[in-house]
Amino acid sequence: MAKEGASNTDTMEKLVSLCKRRGFIFQSSEIYNGLNGCWDYGPLGVELKRNVKEAWYQAVVRDRDDVVPIDCSILMNRRVWQASGHEKCFTDPMVDCKGCQKRYRADKVRMHYLLAGAEVLWKHAYEGDDPADFDKISKSVRKSYDHLRNQHKAALDSGAAADADYLVSQAPAGLPRICPECGGELTEARLFNLMFKTYVGPAEDSATMTYLRPETAQGIFANFKNVCDSGRVRIPFGIAQIGKAFRNEITPRNFTFRSREFEQMEIEFFCKPGTDMEWYAHWVGERKKWYAALGMREENLRFREHAKEELAHYARGCTDVEYKFPFGWGELEGIANRTDFDLKAHGEAAGRDLSYFDDETKERFIPYVIEPSAGADRSTLAFLCDAYHEDMAPDEKGQMQPRVVLRFHPRLAPTKVAVFPLVRKDGMPEKAEAIFRALKKHMSAFYDEKGAVGRRYRRQDEAGTPYCLTVDGQTLQDDTVTLRDRDTMTQTRLPAAGIVQYIRDKVGV
Ligand code: ATP
Repeated sequence: MAKEGASNTDTMEKLVSLCKRRGFIFQSSEIYNGLNGCWDYGPLGVELKRNVKEAWYQAVVRDRDDVVPIDCSILMNRRVWQASGHEKCFTDPMVDCKGCQKRYRADKVRMHYLLAGAEVLWKHAYEGDDPADFDKISKSVRKSYDHLRNQHKAALDSGAAADADYLVSQAPAGLPRICPECGGELTEARLFNLMFKTYVGPAEDSATMTYLRPETAQGIFANFKNVCDSGRVRIPFGIAQIGKAFRNEITPRNFTFRSREFEQMEIEFFCKPGTDMEWYAHWVGERKKWYAALGMREENLRFREHAKEELAHYARGCTDVEYKFPFGWGELEGIANRTDFDLKAHGEAAGRDLSYFDDETKERFIPYVIEPSAGADRSTLAFLCDAYHEDMAPDEKGQMQPRVVLRFHPRLAPTKVAVFPLVRKDGMPEKAEAIFRALKKHMSAFYDEKGAVGRRYRRQDEAGTPYCLTVDGQTLQDDTVTLRDRDTMTQTRLPAAGIVQYIRDKVGV
């Protein structure tokens, strides 16, 4: 990702600053000091995220015969969230620091100790001049702590399914609970529901209260019967949806990775009980292919199958797709075999029959469901991290200079091609603009006539544009242009006639 020697924190900082400078991602409400956990996509960011969503839609809906799309409202009847279990159980344990008032997810504080080691604690104990603090850490806690930490490290190092997160969740409750930032004392953990409340209509009471959806999946379950009855589908089939979701995360962080407003790309794939494990394996395979086809580097991606003990009581399998971000491994997508849990729960709560009748076999059953549930923002961030490179490139005088380049797969690149006249005279701008207009009909293209051409190349490298087309003196003589490749930096001279189709073939649009 980064050049050797650059630290991971450096890489993330550089990426965040690049995202702002070049118009990928801005902090929401920045002129009012922002709103924690909310982000805005700028011109290049919109194109990039759209390309991610379109690539997903193409793969899971258009390229298949057995998945149909849906677009549900964000606000739904509160009973949906009661039936799904979200109202009761969609909670995280929260602790506050009595010293600096920082708030944490209790499980993440434990994680902190497990990952960072006891250094912070030792440091505070030593510096605090209070031997009693130090004694609080009993030998036995330290021992089990060390044991877990070693296991955790081994699990991370081997990338095995043997489950770093699960081990974290097993960290002894007796681990000392102090603030990772200031060493202050933490409160007892309280459960905090992550759903945002809102009211429908003018009265603000419990009868009008509902939530902003924390996931898109439940809209799909609530519409299962509608889609079946509209007659286009037969089991096995899936329903896919892209849309906003909202979670009042206790500690939003790591740029867009953990936001309070984000977009999901979810599929609920309904199948006959008994065929579910086959379909589960099918979807794990399909999703693997998707990330690979968009050029995500293999070494930065892992598919982590949950151990049996980690599974929800109703689930028969779950695989997390994880990416190695500069801040560590993080989930991009969960693929779960949820059995008939959701349809059963909604059927019972709504008093409706959500079973399916197979008119060929004359069987009636509640379908099982496989749920590949991905985040559009997290994937976009992962593609950004994966694309980020620093290397050396010659400047106008042939001197090697450091360059930042986003090596996006052409399908994801926000701008596919930039068109330049070498200089602003001799009819070059007119010719370049005509080519630009022709290209723009088919793809996102950019026209730039300002500054030295070398600098224009570099600006496009930083934006991840795979090709730059230049109209120069020779164009006016023999109607050829140069096409410069972002990654190899080679320039090829090609006839201007047919160049639009040539580039379309190259970028796949
Ligand atoms: P995490 O454990 O990281 O909180 P999760 O397991 O709760 O995630 P799911 O409920 O399975 O996440 O949601 C499916 C996908 O939605 C996730 O894999 C992720 O890509 C995306 N997602 C979930 N929460 C967030 C968030 N706060 N910000 C951005 N994307 C999110």
